[in-house]
Amino acid sequence: MKQRITGHTELIGLLADPIRNSKSPMMHNTAFEALGLDYVYLVFEVDNSSLKSAVEGLKAMKVRGFNVSMPNKGAILQYLDRLSPAAKLCSAVNTVVNEDGKLMGYNTDGIGFMEACKDEQMDILGKKITVLGAGGAATAVCMQAALDGVKEISIFNGNDAFWQKALDNVRKINEHTSCKAQCFPLEDTEALRREIADSAMLVNATGCGFCQPIGPCLIPDASYLRKELMVFDVIYSPEETQLLAWAKEVGCKCSNGLDMMFFQGAAAFKLWTGKEMPLDVVREVFKTL
Ligand code: NAD
Repeated sequence: MKQRITGHTELIGLLADPIRNSKSPMMHNTAFEALGLDYVYLVFEVDNSSLKSAVEGLKAMKVRGFNVSMPNKGAILQYLDRLSPAAKLCSAVNTVVNEDGKLMGYNTDGIGFMEACKDEQMDILGKKITVLGAGGAATAVCMQAALDGVKEISIFNGNDAFWQKALDNVRKINEHTSCKAQCFPLEDTEALRREIADSAMLVNATGCGFCQPIGPCLIPDASYLRKELMVFDVIYSPEETQLLAWAKEVGCKCSNGLDMMFFQGAAAFKLWTGKEMPLDVVREVFKTL
C-alpha cells in the first residue's frame, strides 16, 4: 500500500457514523489493487452535523466520488445536483459521483438486490413479489424492482415508525412506475399467507434476525413457504437466518444478502471507475476475513 500511493492517487471516501467496522474499504481497495487502478478508499466518521462541510471539502478537492451510509443517506440529498430515478424514488443516496464539479446521487442498494437475483438465476421480472419491511433496504429493493419491471409488490410492515414509509412507498411505486404495489400490516397473518402464496419471491428486507443467533423470523412458521417460492434475505450476518433455514428445509431457491452487498459495491465501483469490479477476487478476500 505504501508503494502504491503516489501523488496521482485518487481518493474515494465513505461518509457515515458509526463506520469503522465497514467492509467497503476491503471490497473497493481489493478491487482497485486487482485492476491496477490508482484509487484509495477510506472511511470518514461524518454525521449529519458535519456532512455539509465534508461534502464541500470533497468537492473542493475534486474527488471522483464517495459513498454515504447512515445517518447520511437522506441528508445528503440537499447537497447534490442530480439524482438517479431510484435515488429520487427512495429519497436516499448511497453513492455520489463527481462529474466535473456536479454531484450526482445514486442508490445502488436496489441495483445490488436485482443483480444478485440475476446472478443466482432468480427471475422476478414480470412477476409478483412480497417484501417484508419499509426501511432503507426495503425501499431500495422495492423501488429498483418496480423500475426494472417487477409486476406487483406486496409490502408488509409492522406497526412501528416505518408504517407511514410503507404507505409512501406504495404511493410512489403506483404513481411513478408501471408496477402495482399495496401494503398490509405484518400482523395480518392471513394476508401474509395469501400474498406469499401468490408471489414468486419472498424478500425479508427488515433488520429482524440481523447479527443474532438464528432465531427471530417475521413469518410465523415454514408452512408459509412452498418449494417453488424463491426466498431472499437481505441479512448476511448470520449467513443463514431462520427464514433461510426454513426455506432450505422446504426446498426453496434462496439467497442471503452477501451478494447484494457485493453487487451494490460493484455498481458504485463502476459508476466511479467505468470498470467492472472483479467480484471473484473480492469474494476470495472476504472468505479470509
Ligand atoms: P431500517 O432501520 O431503515 O429499517 C428497518 C426495517 O426493519 C423497518 O421496516 C422495520 O419495521 C423493520 N424491523 C426491524 N426489526 C423488526 C422486528 N423485530 N420486527 C418487525 N419489523 C422489524 O434498516 P435498513 O437500513 O433497511 O436495514 C435493514 C436490514 O437490511 C439490516 O439488517 C441491514 O444490515 C440489511 N441491509 C443489507 C444490505 C445488503 O446489501 N445486503 C443493504 C442494506 C441493508
